[in-house]
Amino acid sequence: MQIARRYDRQHPRPRPGVSIAHTVLQDYERLPMRLMLNLFRAYPMASFLMVLALFFSGLAEGLGLSAMLPMLKIVLNADPNAASTEPPGQMEQMVLDVLNWAGIPVTLGALLILIVIAATFKAVLLLIAQRQVGYTAARVATDLRLQILRNMMRSRWHFFLHQPAGKLANTLATEAQRAADAYMNGATALTFFIQALVYTSVALVISWQATLLSVIGGIVIIGLSHFLVRMTRKAGKKQTELMVSLMSHLTDTLQSVKPLKAMAREHLADELLKHETNRLNKALRRQVLASAALNSGQDLMFIMVIAFGVYLALGVLSMDFAIVLMLAVTLGRGYNFLGKVQKQYQKMVQSESAYWSLIETNRRAEAEQEHLGGHVTPALTRGITLRDIGFSYDGNTVLSGLDLEIPAHQMTTLVGPSGSGKTTIIDLVIGLLRPDAGQITIDERPFEEIDLKAWRRMVGYVPQETVLLHDSILHNVGLGDPQISEERVVAALKQAGAWDFVQDLPEGIHTLVGERGGRLSGGQRQRVAIARALINGPQLLILDEATSALDPESEAAIIETLRGLREQLTILAITHNSSLSDAADLVHRLEPVATVRTEAAEI
Ligand code: ADP
Repeated sequence: MQIARRYDRQHPRPRPGVSIAHTVLQDYERLPMRLMLNLFRAYPMASFLMVLALFFSGLAEGLGLSAMLPMLKIVLNADPNAASTEPPGQMEQMVLDVLNWAGIPVTLGALLILIVIAATFKAVLLLIAQRQVGYTAARVATDLRLQILRNMMRSRWHFFLHQPAGKLANTLATEAQRAADAYMNGATALTFFIQALVYTSVALVISWQATLLSVIGGIVIIGLSHFLVRMTRKAGKKQTELMVSLMSHLTDTLQSVKPLKAMAREHLADELLKHETNRLNKALRRQVLASAALNSGQDLMFIMVIAFGVYLALGVLSMDFAIVLMLAVTLGRGYNFLGKVQKQYQKMVQSESAYWSLIETNRRAEAEQEHLGGHVTPALTRGITLRDIGFSYDGNTVLSGLDLEIPAHQMTTLVGPSGSGKTTIIDLVIGLLRPDAGQITIDERPFEEIDLKAWRRMVGYVPQETVLLHDSILHNVGLGDPQISEERVVAALKQAGAWDFVQDLPEGIHTLVGERGGRLSGGQRQRVAIARALINGPQLLILDEATSALDPESEAAIIETLRGLREQLTILAITHNSSLSDAADLVHRLEPVATVRTEAAEI
């Protein structure tokens, strides 16, 4: 995907110790339209079409406007009291020449038709341009979302684990939308800018002196109002930062609502979020103030300049009324559009920081892509060996000199106190983590030679905490894979000992399990998760305390199933449960900073 990559080339990695937001802000403040340039380069065709349509709509508008001066002259001269005796000016003469050349009579009716035709062309072309902008904005949001999701999913496990879920949700929902809004505002600013240019050009032909003075006046007004844009940019940046931390805290809090409610401490969640919501509110108020001030203040300044100009032209310089009227209309409209350019630009800078924040998150995820190893697809016929393994999390040693065998077609269990490194061992076997020292082999092939994707496709994994999707049991087991038939799901449910209770549900396999599987008991959820792990006929079944929530009867049934499955696959299970260990072929007992004692279980 181009958007981030293109940005990447120009954007160096932030220096260590320098906050991302700061680096990014410094960068885009230096080049205010960088976001638009980035997106124009990412979507060249759509942008080209948009600019083309805008250009021609501007031309049509200019044409309609030029016909107005001779028309005004006709109207004013038709009035016997009109005092216009001036010969045609440069602009008027030009228009008359063109009309003459085209064979269009200089009558009120013909000129009005010409104005209407030009206005129609302008309206159609503007519609095309605006539709193009809208479509591109929607694509920007979608592409950014997909891009960041893909990069996050392909990132190293350790990196992924350190990303707060709320931050990712915020990036995907809020930041992507605000980035698309920023593009939309930038493109709309461009539309207005072209229109302002058209009016200024027409005015320039009528009177370059009046136009020059007006342009100077316009630049001064825009310059004077620019502090309001800066204020909005600051508030927008604050909003971006606060949304990240607010959403991260919110997600954390929502995940622990049950204990908070159970102990009547829900007010603590309120306290936790109040501070950030208040700060966000302050930033939003500043944003509103800046945009309202720009709206009213700027219009007032423009009207004052126009009124002064009209007084100067008519009262002091006694210029021709039709020309002054035409100048007032064109320059007035020109100012109107110039003001709109700044207002749209203000809106763009308000959302712009969200785009840069998203790009930065994406760049980090892209830099942390996991290496998918070699090209060997293992068969797992002999077993997995961990030899002299050392592993630490950020300097905190968890495993040291660990030797461990997981023979094929046997059931191996890892037991030991919490924190002794059991889950870490599983993550190493799946290749989510890489050891700092030692070697892992599969059928004696070093892990580095193994095609990690192919290896993981051979794994069935049942996590400790089973979170189901808010969908049917069928979907939860098959995960929406169109190649998995209902019969296969039923077979997997039978294997996992879940079929009996699924059959008794009101809609059987099509019953919705509720948010996060809330309509099922803990044991039922675990059995659905075991069925999900078995559905693809794995070679290695990994259970991370996956039988902890089962009642003794279901547990005995599952253990029996697992023992039967050893013919077809290898089982590695973490358990605190003696029944599962008793049924295992091999039990590895871990002590903190793993020393390991291996016992062949008596079966
Ligand atoms: P077990 O599964 O035996 O309870 P783990 O393998 O989950 O143990 O964890 C072993 C140690 O590593 C614990 O002290 C834990 O705090 C630490 N640890 C686990 N995951 C991480 C992580 N992502 N970052 C830092 N430390 C971690």
